Amino acid sequence: MRVSDDRYTRDRLRFDIAVQFIQHEARTRTIRAWTGLSDDRIRKLYRSYLRDWPGPRLTRHRGKSPQQVAFFMRTDRARQESALLASLCRLLGALPAGPAPEQLGTLPSLGRGELLCHAFAVYRSLVPQSMISFEHAVFLLTALVRGDELVLSACRECSAVLIIDRWSLRAPCCSVCAPPARQPGVSL
Ligand SMILES: [Zn+2]
Repeated sequence: MRVSDDRYTRDRLRFDIAVQFIQHEARTRTIRAWTGLSDDRIRKLYRSYLRDWPGPRLTRHRGKSPQQVAFFMRTDRARQESALLASLCRLLGALPAGPAPEQLGTLPSLGRGELLCHAFAVYRSLVPQSMISFEHAVFLLTALVRGDELVLSACRECSAVLIIDRWSLRAPCCSVCAPPARQPGVSL
């Protein structure tokens, strides 16, 4: 009895997480990895879900998931948005405190998927026009857990959460505390 209750709860959670991933326009491959559902079940879920979905039209993305960490560091806005998302993931328990490459193999899971969906929903409510898609959020989480290129850090002045290049030599500073860029010809 207990076993079937557990199984029911797990299947229910699997379904709920898959629906949230679909709402966030995750790729089928990502949904499969994080929920363990087969492609066929995801397709059926997609069809039945889209039929009843009252919100804006969902896009079904194909092709490869994001793979370039430079995306998160390219501009001030990208750095700020990814730092906000990472700190929400950290606060809500989706992201460990430091790099944990030994967890990479078990990273995609129902429990963490639920936490990630929660963090991403809060992030989207704070930044409705965000440049970070859910697929990028999955990639950011993975990159920070891997910790070989990007790591979480803090501004040396105000302690705001920052994401930095692991090999960066300078003490990190957020865009609010950073001194204005020196203008050519202006002596300071
Ligand atoms: Zn600062």
